[in-house]
Amino acid sequence: VGPSKVESTPEWKLAVNPRDQSYGKRVNMPIKEQRRSLPVFVLRDQLIESVRQHQILIVVGETGSGKTTQTTQYLAEAGFANNGIIGCTQPRRVAAISVAKRVAEEVGCVLGEEVGYSIRFEDRTSASTRIKYMTDGMLQREIVQDPELKRYSVIMLDEAHERTIATDVLFALLKKALKKRLDLKVIVTSATLNAEKFSTYFNDAPIFTIPGRTYPVEILYSREPESDYLDAALTTILQIHLTEPAGDILLFLTGQEEIDTSCEILYERMKAFGPSVPELIILPIYSALPTEMQSRIFEPAQGRKVVIATNIAETSITIDNIYYVVDPGFVKQKAYDPKLCMDSLIITPISQAQANQRAGRAGRTGPGKCFRLYTETAYQSEMLPTTIPDIQRQNISTTILMLKAMGINDLLNFDFMDPPPINATLTALEELYAIGALDDAGLLTSLGRKMTHFPMDPPLAKVVLAAVELGCSDEMISIVAMLTALNVFYRPKDKQEQADQKKAKFHDAHGDHLTLLNVYNSWKQNGYANSWCFENFIQMRSMKQAKNVRDQLVTIMNRYRHPMVSCGRETDKVRRALCAGFFRNTARRDASAGAGCYKTVVEGTAVYLHPSSALFGKSAEWVVYHELVLTTREYMHWCTTIEPKWLVEEVPTFFKITGVDGTMSKRRQKERIQPLFDRFSAEDDWRLSTQRKSG
Ligand code: ADP
Ligand code: MG
Repeated sequence: VGPSKVESTPEWKLAVNPRDQSYGKRVNMPIKEQRRSLPVFVLRDQLIESVRQHQILIVVGETGSGKTTQTTQYLAEAGFANNGIIGCTQPRRVAAISVAKRVAEEVGCVLGEEVGYSIRFEDRTSASTRIKYMTDGMLQREIVQDPELKRYSVIMLDEAHERTIATDVLFALLKKALKKRLDLKVIVTSATLNAEKFSTYFNDAPIFTIPGRTYPVEILYSREPESDYLDAALTTILQIHLTEPAGDILLFLTGQEEIDTSCEILYERMKAFGPSVPELIILPIYSALPTEMQSRIFEPAQGRKVVIATNIAETSITIDNIYYVVDPGFVKQKAYDPKLCMDSLIITPISQAQANQRAGRAGRTGPGKCFRLYTETAYQSEMLPTTIPDIQRQNISTTILMLKAMGINDLLNFDFMDPPPINATLTALEELYAIGALDDAGLLTSLGRKMTHFPMDPPLAKVVLAAVELGCSDEMISIVAMLTALNVFYRPKDKQEQADQKKAKFHDAHGDHLTLLNVYNSWKQNGYANSWCFENFIQMRSMKQAKNVRDQLVTIMNRYRHPMVSCGRETDKVRRALCAGFFRNTARRDASAGAGCYKTVVEGTAVYLHPSSALFGKSAEWVVYHELVLTTREYMHWCTTIEPKWLVEEVPTFFKITGVDGTMSKRRQKERIQPLFDRFSAEDDWRLSTQRKSG
């Protein structure tokens, strides 16, 4: 295809040749042609015109039609970036990075210049940035500081159907901002059915539809429920590889561990077949995967690819040439667990809408097949039609703190698209009160205000602020930075013992938080050397990430004038500060139940020391932990010894009433919560009383 022809041929037709000819072709096209081959391309001018005419536009189109990568560029080309930034939010960090990279490449600039991204603890933008991809959480933080978002000319709330809490809150806040800023444009994109609902919510905003270019997808169900979906998935993949015509495969799994294991098993099984079987290229994709590895899924490959992905491949990231989808029907979701009084990650069945979205991934390049590893009956009768929005499932303390910081106190009348359950709101208010972010009238305290300075959930922010008070903020921000880094300790299967010995050298007698501090300090003393990481079985990448986070935290500390103070050897202060924020995550040894068994202080739930903890095998009486990780049992992750009196001293609002036994009479509970409740409900007695009846 010569350049002159490119002008006159509708190129997108090139991309939809029968698969035997076009297989793998699109990815080999020059970028300009690829852009022109997207379904949105023919609608470019119409799209620009619609944005000109309307303040809010709902854009609907199949995944891969070009919404995320093209809309921002079209608008920039049409001059919308001349008086402000074009911002585009993504529910997932990986998507924000991957899309920004792609668009920078299409625009032909260095990432971070005209096109950049901003995610928590990482800002790749500059003064010249015109198109900015970011997580919805980042924009939510920005809107607290600047409710009118004056720096922006256009905001695109992408993947709005995902209904993350941040996107849901932005819906309402942007609606408000639009009334004041008549020049601001808002685009809400969605891949699926919700368009009408979005339109109604946004004052009957017009819906701009990008006609899909999809092919039929044949759906095959399991005849019997699968007892082991991982095994079933891998068997299905091999079957496809050995019996089906060319075309790449996409498998949906729930998380990193599952994906890594599957990749290994699949690799071994392929090896066992020997050289007579054509090669199968196995590619994992999940958030924690290093970015270079992530980009590999987009590269053209010789032979069949199988991409093993988390839910991220459902809509956020589009991979071309997928003809086969294998869908076990599960997703890992964060949900509030009343037993633990916190969010935890649980593996749950997907909704019918998600199942259909997944199947659709197989019909983008040609007619495809979707192998559902569940029965048709399960699909019909056990799956919800659509997914419940996060805001109705998760802990909303961080959200409420943010709204309070914006002066929004009337939560009942806040314009949520779907309001959170009243109990969840109460729990959040109660938590914020206990942690000292709200006073007993339910209003933001100065401590609460300070907590919003940090891009972290209230407990962690409180810990940093307590560390400032106690004089150990220097140590604490190293620890916080280390807590955000994933997989610090490297423990290869063939060298576990050696790795454990190295790790033990860093162990602090008081537990894991101080152990993390030892690791960080030791790395620092060794000039942040890569070789040091290598020798000590420490993941260099995680350490670099921790350092980066720490640097960002230092910037925040300086900006808001929170002093950096070191406690030297008095690390008791660090442990005390941990109590100030994580007092709910405290537990007492339950000797009667066996070694390593504990009961949480507040709820009395059974929890366990993880074998990897520095406290394992010791008999610490009282501990504070960072989080619970449910594998075979509820394990406390990052665990440190404390003295119970610190709880009463650091968090009197909570423990003076409950006592360290964690029991609180119903009357006491009511006394404590009622004032908050009254404040919260003052504006709307009627709704409250009906809610009370039904609740
Ligand atoms: P939508 O938002 O409508 O789902 P996108 O704009 O994300 O669509 O993607 C359009 C096309 O751009 C995809 O089909 C894919 O070919 C290409 N693309 C997107 N991201 C990348 C990337 N990181 N690398 C290579 N190609 C990409
Ligand atoms: Mg998209």
